[in-house]
Order: sequence, then structure tokens, then C-alpha cells
Amino acid sequence: MKYLFTILIFCSCQKDPYCPPIGIVPNEVKTYYDYFINEAEKRNILLKENKVEIVLSGKFYVNGIPYIGYADNANNRITIDTSEGSYKIYKEHVILHELGHYFLHRDHRNDNLPNNNPTSIMNCCNYTNFNYYPYKREYYLNELFCPHTESPDWGN
Ligand SMILES: [Zn+2]
Repeated sequence: MKYLFTILIFCSCQKDPYCPPIGIVPNEVKTYYDYFINEAEKRNILLKENKVEIVLSGKFYVNGIPYIGYADNANNRITIDTSEGSYKIYKEHVILHELGHYFLHRDHRNDNLPNNNPTSIMNCCNYTNFNYYPYKREYYLNELFCPHTESPDWGN
């Protein structure tokens, strides 16, 4: 019965113009996942991918290169190296960044604002902890979902 119920949900979802994502997400990062989905919905961003699994891992390599986070759309998987110090300090940034790759198909954006802060949390290598800089959160979230967002005043 439970199986049938699941099938009915999937079928009705496919007819629906928007099917909310179904994530397999560990509790440790669920807050950030839910936050991302909610922020997307607030902006009427339709997330086309809808079944990601987030895997919290130790050190891992893709083609011989170590990654802190890696979004693998072909396999609906985001892998995160939780042993990295950067993950521990910048967990929210790391998760939002990988969800940006996975759901929004964003590539890295490595340019800077006039004050030399990164223009985007989709930059390759410079993390921000929004708990230390709460005033940056709104801009970086806007830019994540809409790369044409105007520079913020604090970026001058
Ligand atoms: Zn990246």
C-alpha cells in the first residue's frame, strides 16, 4: 500500500508544472538544504532536478583530485568531505555552493566586488561564514539565484 501511495505521488508530481525536490539529506546539513529550497521557492525559481542525495564522506577524489564538495548531476549525488577544516567552519557556504552547482547548474564565478570580496559564493575557493558577516547573506543569496544581482553597498 505504501508503495502504491509513493507511485501516485510521483505520478501526480509529473503532471504538476513544479514538483518540489525530494532530497535524501543527512540531518547534519538538512537545515541548509531546506533553507536553499525555501529561498528558491521564495524567488519562484523552479528547481528542475528533484532527487538529490547528499553524502557526507571522508576525504574523496574525483579523477585524482581531492574535493571538499562535488555535485554529480548524472548520479543525483552531492558528496562532501566533512574531514576538511573548511567544511567545519564554512558548512553553510559549502552546502549552498554545491546545491548551486546541482540545482541551478551554476559554474564557478571567480570575479570580485570592488572591495575585493568574492562576487559570488559560487567562487572556486573563497568561503564566507554568514554568522560572522550577517549583512552579506542577503546579497549572496540573491546572487546565487540571480547572477545579475547588483553589487551591494558593502561591496564598494
Ligand atoms: Zn564549486
